[in-house]
Order: sequence, then structure tokens, then C-alpha cells
Amino acid sequence: MPRPISAVVHTAALTHNLARVRQRVPASKVWAVVKANAYGHGIARVYGALRGADGFALLDLAEAETLRALGWGGPILLLEGCFGPEDLALCDRLNLWHVVHCNEQIDWLAQHRGNRAQRVFLKMNTGMNRVGFAPAHYAAAWARLDALPQVGEITQMTHFARADEADGIAEAMRRFESGVAGLPGERCVANSAAVLLHADAPGVAGDWVRPGIMLYGSSPTGIAPDAAHWDLQPAMSLRSELIDVQHIAAGEHVGYGGTFTAERAMHVGVVACGYADGYPRHASTGTPVVVGGVPTRLLGRVSMDMLAVDLDPVLAAGVRPGVGTPVLLWGRDGDAELSIDAVAHAAGTLGYELMCALAKRVPTRVD
Ligand SMILES: *Cc1c(COP(=O)(O)O)cnc(C)c1O
Repeated sequence: MPRPISAVVHTAALTHNLARVRQRVPASKVWAVVKANAYGHGIARVYGALRGADGFALLDLAEAETLRALGWGGPILLLEGCFGPEDLALCDRLNLWHVVHCNEQIDWLAQHRGNRAQRVFLKMNTGMNRVGFAPAHYAAAWARLDALPQVGEITQMTHFARADEADGIAEAMRRFESGVAGLPGERCVANSAAVLLHADAPGVAGDWVRPGIMLYGSSPTGIAPDAAHWDLQPAMSLRSELIDVQHIAAGEHVGYGGTFTAERAMHVGVVACGYADGYPRHASTGTPVVVGGVPTRLLGRVSMDMLAVDLDPVLAAGVRPGVGTPVLLWGRDGDAELSIDAVAHAAGTLGYELMCALAKRVPTRVD
């Protein structure tokens, strides 16, 4: 028998979450953001469920090739654009649209001898201060691109630093509007947080939106009840089983470093899941976990291949746990549900990081 851990990608949830994007911004075209191997879900696994999107956005050239090999003939956007001049030949061959965020990328376009007009998304830096042209330099970059015979349509784009905050985009939108004033073309500004929190603010829905995390059923705010509040469904479940049960005396410790001390005699379950599976090592005592359908908590430190759980709430609920009892680490299993955002919160991170960290060694299936 294989080690009992497994992950499940829920395609109906992906389709539902894409429909939620459409409901929030009915007039916008939708990029399904599938970077980082579809946030850890696997591009090939999510492709069928998300092909109702208008395009796919990612940043690895190899992932773009994967999508074309899967049969996607529609738009693909490279969110970080080209990393070197030779990438433009691949953009020609695969018909990839690409972000332009610096002058070097314009230089490469100017020197490129290709066979089709390149579709570019010109990125403005509106306060993230990561990549993009400052508002004051944006029109000049736009004019330089527009003058190149190698360049076709130019879309105006920015990325918000604080869209997960109630008043997080007003200043960025003000900068954006000042930088694009008078320029023609489509616009694309909103990530998941902007779609969920700011879709009604002027200009935010734009012509295109770029949701990622909400497609996977986790909240960009990191606040556990938010995903359900927005009617998003978890697209990934991580499940395992108990591989041992210990009955320990009061005063005994659990796990490396003995960071958990039993206050009274108690039952401890050992789960086949550790940080080498992608479970966060920084999750500590109290992190929620579901054992035999009963909510309980993690105990002590997560190790590479195992973690420990408190079985007393499980016993109190009338379930007799033993080797083989199912454990839900996040997602859902039958009637049991455990928000990935709640687990992430307990580990001091976000659902994004947990999904992306799902390890290759975890067998993953689609349902
Ligand atoms: C990752 C990314 C997105 C999607 O962000 P979410 O918070 O997952 O919705 C959108 N735009 C750009 C430029 C990105 O890099």
C-alpha cells in the first residue's frame, strides 16, 4: 500500500469560482492566472475546468508551451514578459502576449525580426515599486512601443500592492489614470482582491481582469471566513491517515524539541504528512485539522514526514481513531471542510503559499 497521503483537485470548484469572477465583473474578459503550475494544482489538471476563461496568464515559458500542447489556441499572457531577446521568437511561435515593464524589453522588441505583430501589456508602477514604468514615464514608453512596427495592440496595465484593503486602491488608481491620460487601448488592472473588494470602483473592472487565488477558492485577504463569504469553493484538498496512535501520560512531550507538553493523560495521533509534503513547518500546536470527521488540533512541531494531532476531541465525539482513520489537512472530504486559509493563518502565511508548496511526492488526482 502506498503512503496514505494524497491531494485532490476539485474541477467543479474551479469552474464555480471562475463563474464567480464572471458574476462580479460581467463585462470584463478574464485571464485565469495559472502561474506557478496553477498555484500548485497542476496546469494540466486545471486546464479543462478553466478553459471557459478568455485567456491564461502565467510567467514560465515552459508553462506556456504546456498550455499550447494541451490544445489551448486562445490568448496566453506572460506576466513578467520576456527575460531575454531570444524569448521573442518563442512569443512568435506560440503566439504569446507579453508584459513590457522596462526599457530593455522595448529594446529587444526594436531589434526583433519576427513574423507577427506582438501584443503587449505595458505595465505601470503605481506604488508597488516592484516592476513597471512610473506614471510620469508611461506615455513615453507607450509612444516608443507604438512607433515600432514589431508591436501591435498595446494594453494598459498595473498591479495593486494593497487591493486586499478596503481603501487600498484609490491612490494607485489616481496614479494610473494620470499616467494613461489620453492614451488609447484596453485596460487591465484587477487581481482577485480587486475583483472581490473593488469591482464597483471606477475603472477597476476594465477590459480584462487577472484573478488567480480566488479561482482556487482561497481568499487574498488571508481571513479564513472570507472565501466562504464570497462563495468560493476550495479547489484543493490535502488528505492523509493516522499511521499510529499513542496514549501518553501527563507531563510527556510531543515531537522534536518537546514543544507540546500534555497537561493530562491523552491520546495522540500520528499523521502521514510533514513539511516534505508541503505542509507548513511553522504550523504549531493549535493549528486546525480534522480527524475522522471531527475538528481537532495539531500538537508540537511538524516534522519532515509526520505530524501529531490531539485525539481526545475525536474520542469525545464518539469516533474511535486508529491506524487508517482519515485525516483532512485542508480542503474537504465528504461533509468535512477545513479552510486552507485557516491552516495558513495558524502557520503565519497565506493560502497562496500552502498551495504552491504542495510537494511533488504527494500523489494528486482530479475529481
Ligand atoms: C499573480 C498575479 C495576479 C493574480 O493575483 P491573485 O492575488 O492571485 O489574484 C495578477 N496579476 C499579476 C501581475 C500577478 O503576478
